[in-house]
Amino acid sequence: MYLYNSLTHKKELFVPNDPSLVKMYTCGPTVYHYAHIGNLRTYIMEDVLEKSLRYLGYPVKRVMNITDVGHLASDADTGEDKMLKGARREHKTVMEIAKYYTDAFFADCDKLNIKRPDVVEPATNCIPEYIHMVQTLLDKGFAYLAGGNVYFDTSTLKQYYVFNDHDEEDLEVGVREGVEEDTNKKNKNDFVLWFTKSKFEDQALKWESPWGVGYPGWHIECSCISMKHLGETLDIHAGGIDNAFPHHTNEIAQSESYLGHKWCNYWFHVHHLNTDHGKMSKSKGEFLTVSLLEQKGYDPMVYRLFCLQSHYRRNLVFSWENLDNAAAAYDKLIAKIAALKSEGEVDTEALEKLKERFVGALNADLNTSVAVTALYDVLKAKCSDATKLAAIADFDQVLSLNLLSAAGKLRKKQAEEAQASADPEIDALVAARTEAKKAKNFAEADRIRDELKARGIEIIDTPQGAKWRKV
Ligand code: AMP
Ligand code: ZN
Repeated sequence: MYLYNSLTHKKELFVPNDPSLVKMYTCGPTVYHYAHIGNLRTYIMEDVLEKSLRYLGYPVKRVMNITDVGHLASDADTGEDKMLKGARREHKTVMEIAKYYTDAFFADCDKLNIKRPDVVEPATNCIPEYIHMVQTLLDKGFAYLAGGNVYFDTSTLKQYYVFNDHDEEDLEVGVREGVEEDTNKKNKNDFVLWFTKSKFEDQALKWESPWGVGYPGWHIECSCISMKHLGETLDIHAGGIDNAFPHHTNEIAQSESYLGHKWCNYWFHVHHLNTDHGKMSKSKGEFLTVSLLEQKGYDPMVYRLFCLQSHYRRNLVFSWENLDNAAAAYDKLIAKIAALKSEGEVDTEALEKLKERFVGALNADLNTSVAVTALYDVLKAKCSDATKLAAIADFDQVLSLNLLSAAGKLRKKQAEEAQASADPEIDALVAARTEAKKAKNFAEADRIRDELKARGIEIIDTPQGAKWRKV
C-alpha cells in the first residue's frame, strides 16, 4: 500500500516495523462539546485507513486518547482550558462534561460506522506517565522550568518544523484563537509540558507533581498514551491537518528527545471539511452535527459516502446541495443493490477481478473515490448477481456503508408496499379487462376501466402488463 507521509512529503510504500501488528495512533476528540461533521470527516477517513489495513491482511492495534484536560483555547498553549469553558457553559463539572461528550462522540461514531479503536484512553488516566516523561526531559536537558511551568526547549532540536510543506494557512490554524505572548518562553516555539501557573487559576483538575500542583500540557498526552499502549515505536500516527502544527510537531519533539530515537514512521493527515467561510469549526458558522443531519432527514451513511467520494488529502467543501447529491447517489446505489437477486453461483475468478480495482484504489494512497467507483463497476459487470453481492459485501468491510442491510430494508419496504396495495378483487377486474382486450371486446374493456375509475383506481398499461394504483 502506498500512503502519503507528511513527514517525508511523498507517497511511500507502507512497510510496518512488524507486519504481524501494525501500531496506529489517532488523536481523539476534546470532549467539551459535540463533534462537528468536520471533526468526523477526520475520524471517518482514519476508520477507512484502519479497515483498509485489516482488509489488506495486516492485524492492527489502534489507540486513541480522549482529551479531557490541558487543551487550551489556543493550540499554542494560551487561553483557558476548553474543558473548563464547556463546564462553565453548561453549569456542570468538568468530569460530567467529559463523560457526556465522550458518550456523544461514540454515539456519533456508531451512527457513521466508525469502529471504536482497540484502546481508548482519557488523558486524565495517565498523570504518572506524564510526570515521568516531563522529569526525564528535564533530566536530559530538553526542558526547563520558568514561572512555575515546565517548557520544552525547542532550541535543543536539530529540526523543529518537521511538517514544513504545509500551507501557511494550515500552520496558522494552530495559533488561531487570541495569541498571547508567554514571557516565560525562551524561544517562540517552546511549549508547555506541565502547567502550575496559568492565567486561569480556577483550573478544575489539578494533580501533585515535583513542580507543584498543576496539570499536563495538551501535547504530552498523545506521546505518553501512545507509548503506554504501543511501546517505543509507532507505524502510523493520524489526525486532522490542523494537528500537524503545533500538536504533532511538538509530539515528535518531546517523544524523540525522550526516547533518543525515531518514534513514528508514517504521518497521515486528513484535510479539512470547509464551508463557505473556510474551515468548519465549533466557534464559527453553523454548528453541524450528525444529529442535525438526521433531524434534516439525512441518513448518516449519506455523510459517510459524501466523505468517501473525495480524497482525504483534498479540502472538502460542505454544502447542502453537495450533501443532497450524495443522498441521491446513495439512494440510487441501494436501489440497484436491492434489485440484485441472490441466485446463481459465486464465480470466484470474476470476484477476484472485481476486487482488483478496489484493492488498487486503496493501495493508491487510500483513493476512496475510485474505491466507490469500483462499486459501480460491480453493478455493471457481466457476472452473476451472487458474484456481485459477494463483491459488495467484501468492499463494505472497508467502506462500511451498510450496503447490503440498507438494500435488504429497501426490499422489505417495497414488498410491504406491494402487499399493502394488493387487492384480489381489483386484480381480478384488471385481469378480466386484459382478457376482454385480447378478445377484442373493447366495449367490455372500457366498461371495466370506467368501473375501476369510479372506485378510485387507475389502470396503467406497461410493457410488463397492466398495473393499477389508487388515485
Ligand atoms: P478536536 O476535538 O478539536 O481536538 O478535533 C478532533 C479532530 O478533528 C482533530 O484530528 C482535528 O484535526 C480534526 N478537525 C478539526 N476541524 C476539522 C475540519 N474542519 N475538518 C476535518 N477535520 C477537522
Ligand atoms: Zn494528539
